[in-house]
Amino acid sequence: MKISVVLFFLFVNLFSSTFPKNAPFPGGVVVKEVESSVPPRAYLGKRQLMVLPSGKKERYLVIAGIGLNQKMDSPYTITLKEGEKKRTYSIRLQEKAYKKQFITLKDKRKVSPKKMDMQRINDESRRSREALARFSPQKFRSLSMIRPVDVNISDDFGKRRFFNNKPRRPHSGVDMAAPVGTPIVAPLAGRVVEIGEFFFNGNVIFIDHGLGLVSMYCHMHKFDVKKGQMLKQGEKVGEVGATGRVTGPHLHWGVSLNGAMVDPRLFFATVK
Ligand code: ZN
Repeated sequence: MKISVVLFFLFVNLFSSTFPKNAPFPGGVVVKEVESSVPPRAYLGKRQLMVLPSGKKERYLVIAGIGLNQKMDSPYTITLKEGEKKRTYSIRLQEKAYKKQFITLKDKRKVSPKKMDMQRINDESRRSREALARFSPQKFRSLSMIRPVDVNISDDFGKRRFFNNKPRRPHSGVDMAAPVGTPIVAPLAGRVVEIGEFFFNGNVIFIDHGLGLVSMYCHMHKFDVKKGQMLKQGEKVGEVGATGRVTGPHLHWGVSLNGAMVDPRLFFATVK
């Protein structure tokens, strides 16, 4: 009995030491400790948020993603539901300046798509949104992710991007440049919930890790998984490629929490 109690606290401590740090800026993650006598549910508007035990008695952590388009003067309010009781928390956000980046693409169609491309693009963005909006049971033991490709990050999250001098959406993930064929592994346990050959993202898969955490892998050369497949942390999902809107072979890796694309680095135990 005593040993199991010790092991329990050891497990909880290991677990809580790997949480993402509180990073309350656009593209970051809010980690808010709350008190509740029962496991609470938390919401941002209608979206359900991740809640995990904090390791302390009757305390929980609400872990919420902040969209890159979050305005400083717009409120960011978390609603906590504890049975019938409701509480709200206004989170004070910090500003973060992201760099600008200018990219030149030879394939002009990938900058200003043709009319005939639009149906496909709209359909693919609906499929992406649906995959990223999932809220399913927890599939991970700890939020500590490993690198999907064994290289350093070659291009940062959040850069304000211009393709052929035209402003486009900010960089909503990180890039990891590697030769075509380099293995990509699941950074965390999860389930493959969407696979496609997309106009911008190229060959792409989406992995649902549970509790609103979903990750995406773009521009892949080949897939080693099927839709619906369960994955362990570290399991190979495919290979780095150069499909879709790219200037060279790399993995574009995106991490979404409650539908907001956040900086994947926040989930590394050690940042490199
Ligand atoms: Zn990218």
